Amino acid sequence: MDTKILRDLSYGVYIATTKYDNKNVGCTINSVIQVTTNKIAISINHDNYTNKCIKKNNMFAISILSEKSNPKLIGTFGYNSSRDIDKFNDVEYEYILEIPVIKDTLGYVVCKVVDIIEVDTHTIFIGEIKECNKYNNEIPMTYLYYHKELKGKTPKNAPTYIPDEKEEAKENKKKNIFVCRICGYKFESDLDELSDDFKCPICGRGKEFFEKI
Ligand code: FE
Repeated sequence: MDTKILRDLSYGVYIATTKYDNKNVGCTINSVIQVTTNKIAISINHDNYTNKCIKKNNMFAISILSEKSNPKLIGTFGYNSSRDIDKFNDVEYEYILEIPVIKDTLGYVVCKVVDIIEVDTHTIFIGEIKECNKYNNEIPMTYLYYHKELKGKTPKNAPTYIPDEKEEAKENKKKNIFVCRICGYKFESDLDELSDDFKCPICGRGKEFFEKI
């Protein structure tokens, strides 16, 4: 069995959001499907705080990232927990049906939860579309673009996580590769050290969070 074939499934990059207890919460996800004309399904790990909050609020939104969206959004929403930080602090957003949606994206879909399916580590939320809108006509960011162009890795909480991803990095031995311990962003350089003001373009952490491999 070669599980790498699963990486050939196509995905996008989205931020799922909701509001609970007067607090905006959200996380980066890659699994959204349109199930019928007016319903979509999203998959979120049980460990994500956003999962619990969607169950309490019964409403969620997805904001669809484009190739022009700031990649830091992926890190802010993907490699921190809404339990600990306010992810919306430095992010432009607006409320649609009282759910926060991210403006630096292609647009949004706001849904009411009509069904929940628990599958091992993840919850599939089926949402009936209550509102949706486009902000622009940019190209949607695919998960492939995130991996290949932005050199991002799959977080452990993603349904598409495959444990042996590190091996790809070992193949390139000519250059030094620095990996962000927080989000897995890989940076290639001819130099032996990163500059002092280097910041991870995905999660924003400084050079002290990078490890040379
Ligand atoms: Fe990072």
